[in-house]
Amino acid sequence: MSDYRMETKCIQSGYEPKNGEPRIMPIIQSTTFKYESSDEMGALFDLEKEGYFYSRLANPTCDMVAKKICDLEGGHAAMLTSSGQSANFYAVFNICEAGDHFISTSAIYGGTFNLFGVTMKKLGIECTFVEPDATEEEIQAAFRPNTKCVFGETLANPALVVLDLEKFANIAHKNGVPFIVDNTFATPINCQAFKWGVDIVTHATTKYMDGHAATIGGCIVDSGNFDWTKYPDKFPGLTTPDESYHGVIYTERFGKSAYIQKATAQLMRDLGSVQSPQNAFYINLGLETLALRMERHCSNALAVAKYLESNEHVAWVNYSDLESSEYHALQQKYMPNGSCGVISFGLKGDKATAVKFMDQLKMIAIVTHVADARTSVLHPASHTHRQMNEEQLREAGVQPDLIRLSVGIENVNDIIEDLEQAMKHTF
Ligand SMILES: *Cc1c(COP(=O)(O)O)cnc(C)c1O
Repeated sequence: MSDYRMETKCIQSGYEPKNGEPRIMPIIQSTTFKYESSDEMGALFDLEKEGYFYSRLANPTCDMVAKKICDLEGGHAAMLTSSGQSANFYAVFNICEAGDHFISTSAIYGGTFNLFGVTMKKLGIECTFVEPDATEEEIQAAFRPNTKCVFGETLANPALVVLDLEKFANIAHKNGVPFIVDNTFATPINCQAFKWGVDIVTHATTKYMDGHAATIGGCIVDSGNFDWTKYPDKFPGLTTPDESYHGVIYTERFGKSAYIQKATAQLMRDLGSVQSPQNAFYINLGLETLALRMERHCSNALAVAKYLESNEHVAWVNYSDLESSEYHALQQKYMPNGSCGVISFGLKGDKATAVKFMDQLKMIAIVTHVADARTSVLHPASHTHRQMNEEQLREAGVQPDLIRLSVGIENVNDIIEDLEQAMKHTF
């Protein structure tokens, strides 16, 4: 990890060209890598030597980008994945198998909620959802002898709940399991999750990191802080021989990198949700301006949130940077420079009012995406969270009238003027 400040890491981390090498991170567009001897290649397959041999396992461009994200998070090891979904799946599946159980907060991204509640259940892995605002006793009650991790989102999409990271980290550690957090919305610029006891961080790089709605991608970063060897019975996949790799014991061979090495050597090898070098290059371009963009996303969002709060047609506004937010104290603690550019709000009226308002917007587009340069809106109850029933919606913190507004980095006056004209045509 470099000692540079965040803005500098965004630009400089991950790739240091040597004399005469390209100044810009090169795209190594190759599936395979050449070796002089058969034995040398064999040693790579046995994980005895480090080196590239096949881009499903590792690729230099992807590794450089993973290294930059790792550096931004202050982590120990990291890997890219093809999407945020595969990052979250691998992060949990790396330490959970059939018959195991884990705990997740209920206020999470709709896709992750399905993955945990439906698809992983089919694999024999059970998830108990707890409210992010649950008391320590309530969270403790969800633990079972076969519980392997606790999962949450630093800033829930789309409920925008700020998670009390220390509370969840303490309970997870008391029970001898790691705390995994999806830090997509806050990004490492706004929330340094490892400082608050989080062990593993995941990202949909698709969102602010790419920042231009150009590429789908994910990342897993391990702090290296969780000591798997303290609980060998709980995490045999890391602490006992892996027969599919000639008996390698990940914690013995790789130390603090054991978790990422296993996720690469086993999960990426067998499931193959690999990021492409070309897309990794785009993610890197996005990362270079991440600190700059987050600043503007946050200042624009705060101005828009204040405009909405003072508008007579607006029933409620949820943005943790507002003093009126019930999560303001947690935001001040965990992300004091601002949370993110996403706001949720409801209009006075019903679901139809929300739909009518959104249809009147001119510059602000209705898209499934959030967290990129362009301001956009979405109605989760009709779109991303469509598959949930009313009770599940409420549990996920999604009211039926909730409009999710992802504030971009345009001139904030143009954003507010578009909202204003849509209000006039709606009411
Ligand atoms: C979008 C998103 C995901 C899923 O990422 P994809 O790249 O779309 O697979 C996961 N978590 C959060 C918080 C997200 O916003």
